[in-house]
Amino acid sequence: MKVTFPHMGNQYMATKVLLDELNVENILPPECSKDTLEIGTKYSPESICLPLKINIGNYIESIRQGADTILISGSCGPCRFGYYSIQQKEILSELGHDLNFILFDPPQGDYKTFLGRIFQLTGTKNPYKIIRALAKGTKILYQIDALDDLAYYKRPRQKQIGEVDFYLEKLHKEIRNAKGYHEVSQLIQKTRDQVMTIEEDPNKEIIKVGIVGEIYTIIEPFVNLNVERKLGEMGVEIEKSLKVSRWLTEHLYLHPLGITLEKEITEAAKPYMKTMIGGHARETIGYSVKFAKEGFDGIIQIYPFTCMPEIVAQSIMPTIEKDFDIPYLCFIVDELTGDAGYTTRLEAFVDLLKRRREMKRDEKLLSGY
Ligand code: SF4
Repeated sequence: MKVTFPHMGNQYMATKVLLDELNVENILPPECSKDTLEIGTKYSPESICLPLKINIGNYIESIRQGADTILISGSCGPCRFGYYSIQQKEILSELGHDLNFILFDPPQGDYKTFLGRIFQLTGTKNPYKIIRALAKGTKILYQIDALDDLAYYKRPRQKQIGEVDFYLEKLHKEIRNAKGYHEVSQLIQKTRDQVMTIEEDPNKEIIKVGIVGEIYTIIEPFVNLNVERKLGEMGVEIEKSLKVSRWLTEHLYLHPLGITLEKEITEAAKPYMKTMIGGHARETIGYSVKFAKEGFDGIIQIYPFTCMPEIVAQSIMPTIEKDFDIPYLCFIVDELTGDAGYTTRLEAFVDLLKRRREMKRDEKLLSGY
């Protein structure tokens, strides 16, 4: 069995460690690229959301390297993600690829089915081995998310533009030849130490922007046209509403125990959206309110064309913009999104935020504070 999985930002490192630790042969999907998108667009229904198209591209690229099994996380709720595995299996089957799909769904109390799927994947019934591998994969997720947070902080402050990403790109190359928790963790730690030592320019004025939206889009740099790097190099520190580590902790470990760390976000969203409508629309609203209350300079929402939950969230965002007097920008991405127009809109938005900062400072000076 040769297992592959969809590429979603840095999550691939944790999935690789999980499979390595379970001694499951795995094929890392190549980084998402124009080729991935082209393949996925060619074989997927035209109106389906972009993440499914990219997933199909990932699978076909991995099948070409010998993959015969696909590991995919599932979801419940009203959006299309719940049907991804079925639809993707059908698409591949029509192309003559009869692959085995293993659904890595949050257990939602049903640990028997959850463990059954892991037994199927690993061929082992040793629960300790499985728990240890899961714990190590989760640890990697937290380490990589901590490295991302450091990069969000350092990018707008780095004296030499591009230095942060020099080390991150090196990490992505090296990880492909690493195996197991120890090696991957050491590489992340080494990169963290290197990024920490990057020289900062103390005179740079830093703008803070919250990124909200559909999880795949805000996490996979190819799909969001590397928004975090673009903004960072324009002098913007970002914070994202969603992280895979948080999502996994919430759904795998806390929900079954009836615990949630998202209560504050659900409460913040309540005046605008009272219930969960699928995807991460409620988080988009809740985090936008949170970011606004914390004094962020602006909010950017990114989601794929035809994403139903985010369309609903988008219709609410102008009210939040008005209620909290915070500028808001929305990007809807699909296979036709061009880099030049996207970057120009980002630059204009950042200019606006900088100007607002200056005006607020001038007002304070004039009023004698
Ligand atoms: S959240 Fe949006 S983009 Fe993601 S699967 Fe659901 S509808 Fe598609």
